[in-house]
Amino acid sequence: MDFEDTPDEAAWREKVRSFITEHRDELGDRSDRGHDDVRSRQREAVLYDGGLVGVTWPTEAGGHGGTPMQQAIVDQELARAGAPGLVNFIGIGMCGPTVIAHGTQDQKDRYLKRLLRADDIWCQLFSEPASGSDLAALRTRAVRNADGDWVVNGQKVWTTVAHLADYGILLTRTDPDVAKHKGLTMFVVDMKAPGVTARPLRQMSGGAEFNEVFFDDVVIPDSERLGDVGAGWSVAITTLMAERFSLGGGGGELGISPDAVAAHVAEHLSSLPEARQGVVRQRFGRAFAEALATRYTGYRQLSAISRGDMPGPEASAGKLSGTATARELADIAVELLGGDGAFAAEGGGQWQAIQASLPGLAIAGGTNEVLRNVIGERVLGLPPEPRADKNVTFRESIAVAAGGSEAPAQKEAQRA
Ligand SMILES: Cc1cc2nc3c(=O)[nH]c(=O)nc-3n(C[C@H](O)[C@H](O)[C@H](O)COP(=O)(O)OP(=O)(O)OC[C@H]3O[C@@H](n4cnc5c(N)ncnc54)[C@H](O)[C@@H]3O)c2cc1C
Repeated sequence: MDFEDTPDEAAWREKVRSFITEHRDELGDRSDRGHDDVRSRQREAVLYDGGLVGVTWPTEAGGHGGTPMQQAIVDQELARAGAPGLVNFIGIGMCGPTVIAHGTQDQKDRYLKRLLRADDIWCQLFSEPASGSDLAALRTRAVRNADGDWVVNGQKVWTTVAHLADYGILLTRTDPDVAKHKGLTMFVVDMKAPGVTARPLRQMSGGAEFNEVFFDDVVIPDSERLGDVGAGWSVAITTLMAERFSLGGGGGELGISPDAVAAHVAEHLSSLPEARQGVVRQRFGRAFAEALATRYTGYRQLSAISRGDMPGPEASAGKLSGTATARELADIAVELLGGDGAFAAEGGGQWQAIQASLPGLAIAGGTNEVLRNVIGERVLGLPPEPRADKNVTFRESIAVAAGGSEAPAQKEAQRA
């Protein structure tokens, strides 16, 4: 691919830059991220009204009908200006694309534009205490009542921004007597409905951005179903593909700006003993080169998307290498602070906060180990992992996991 802007892209970049300069005060800086719900929403509305949120979304979904490269330019310019991330990043990156792909026209009309302006914040309710990597093992039940609506009971966990959210996409089990991937159904859930409780979990970075969420007899109208009954797995795949791509697939920053670390290194290097300067320079040079390799590999995928191709399993490699590089850059930035690096300075401590948040990135949206499995099986064509619960119903698979005797269907499969 060509790394230089085309004339159209250069014109778009100029437009984006002048918008950011004009609205600098309203957009805030990195220290504002996630600190104030109302201001975060207002910032996003300013960006949306300026055409900088939902760049690639179709216009009928409230978006601006632009290209992936235009979106990448917006991301680059916002990062360059030190603007905080979007509060509704889960909604925009994952929930919205799922509603676009599987929602009814009524759902699209009601939800999408409000989501892009952060009038409504959305969350993704998939993981549970006993199902993360093995998502299809989830246990939250949705049972149909006499009115044809659904009654939901269960618990989700690690749900980012659930404490701020107005809506969520909720993956539930509607039929335990078929194979585990087949008995799932997806819904849009009103996070303010009676019976929904979101409890923030404190992280080691000091923040509390994700939650455990409890559902106690929560009634969801059938009109809020996303996709067919029992088709929840394929709806969830849409979300997961969007998630993997938005986390490192498109060459965007993964939690840390390599350019900001470069400025930090330049500022602090001369304060080190001369013998150490060369070592730090080399270590940073290597990490920066890796960051560039991840960025440009991501751009190659953007080019593929511009041609109409879908991001495939190779998007996993971007997240895997991007996470490792981001962690190395954060380590370098904190170590440069010497003894002060052990403490979050009053009103500062941004490098320490970033360093503490990055291990989570190696887990969210697919752990490093699971991504390696995906690359091994689906990119390199290596033999798949053995799967003990392949030919059994969900109910039988829980019995096996709980130490019960082998399920009948599994014995059958082994004999065959
Ligand atoms: C910052 C952050 C934000 C998150 N946000 C959300 C959110 O908004 N919504 C949501 O639903 N979830 C969210 N999650 C949850 C996330 O999707 C899960 O944590 C993730 O899928 C891993 O699941 P788990 O935590 O249950 O770990 P497990 O699946 O129990 O894994 C435990 C360990 O076993 C390893 N392992 C598991 N299976 C295999 C295998 N087949 N081969 C090799 N090793 C394996 C894993 O790599 C890991 O090291 C978030 C997590 C984090 C850290």
